[in-house]
Amino acid sequence: ATPTALLVGSGRGAQLGILIKGPEVLEQTRTVDTVVLDKTGTVTTGRMSVQHVVAAEGADADEVLAVAGAVEDASTHPIARAIAARAAAQAGLSTVESFASVDGFGVTGVVDGRAAVAGRPRLLEQWSIKLPDDLQQQFDRMQVTGQTVVAVGWDGVARGLVAVADTVKPSSRAAVDRLRALGLTPVLLTGDHERAARAVADQVGIDEVIAGVLPAGKAQVVQRLQAEGKVVAMVGDGVNDAAALAQADLGIAMGTGTDVAIEAGDLTLMRDDLRGVVDAIRLSRRTLGVIK
Ligand code: ADP
Ligand code: MG
Repeated sequence: ATPTALLVGSGRGAQLGILIKGPEVLEQTRTVDTVVLDKTGTVTTGRMSVQHVVAAEGADADEVLAVAGAVEDASTHPIARAIAARAAAQAGLSTVESFASVDGFGVTGVVDGRAAVAGRPRLLEQWSIKLPDDLQQQFDRMQVTGQTVVAVGWDGVARGLVAVADTVKPSSRAAVDRLRALGLTPVLLTGDHERAARAVADQVGIDEVIAGVLPAGKAQVVQRLQAEGKVVAMVGDGVNDAAALAQADLGIAMGTGTDVAIEAGDLTLMRDDLRGVVDAIRLSRRTLGVIK
């Protein structure tokens, strides 16, 4: 394509709410055959809300929520926002000291003298906290329904669970249908567990799900697909997607996402709508003279 055509393409992209880093990006876009979609904040709204709070035997549900909310208040993760908001509304927020975030696992901090941890059971295990059988059973029961369950403990004891859930963006299903119509294969990629991932994949019509991937592993998944000969577009919004966005043949950041993701991507979708991915691919094909 001529430089003029590419410039016109970039201009048209801006009209469609697609910010393109450089004219060469349209060439990359044209050859993509696989579209890897991050789940939380990309396919879903990322606006989670608390569904259930469960207290372990001898613990109090309001206290579980209050402590979890206090530690999560310092985190920007969508799960954290949901728990902190509910705690603030229902139980009131204590302040947290020595806050630390463990990417892809959860958070820790000291709340009113209690050394607290909220996140995956594996994170609690690192603090020598094991879920008792009854709590583990409730954890499994809620997870099977597609909720993301956060385990909460402090001072060496598991105290309860907070289950959060997210909703699929209304436009995601149509976007996936259109990607397929263009001959592309959609793949759902997430750090969340398999059940929650399947529940979302089923709602939008994605067959291929890669779940339970740690932030550092997302780029490796993209690399593996590339090694299989695929030309990969990665769509994401989070800090945990940045490396995968950079690794992909085409990195697409949600404009609603974090600066790190936008920085790492080749394209940014200004509208919070995955149909922008379809628009970008159509635009590149048109600009580069492939009729579709
Ligand atoms: P995704 O790939 O869907 O954006 P992440 O990689 O950010 O998800 O997180 C993976 C999992 O780690 C979450 O599903 C949750 O179980 C746990 N987790 C991450 N951050 C937090 C947090 N702030 N509080 C509790 N749990 C968390
Ligand atoms: Mg995300």
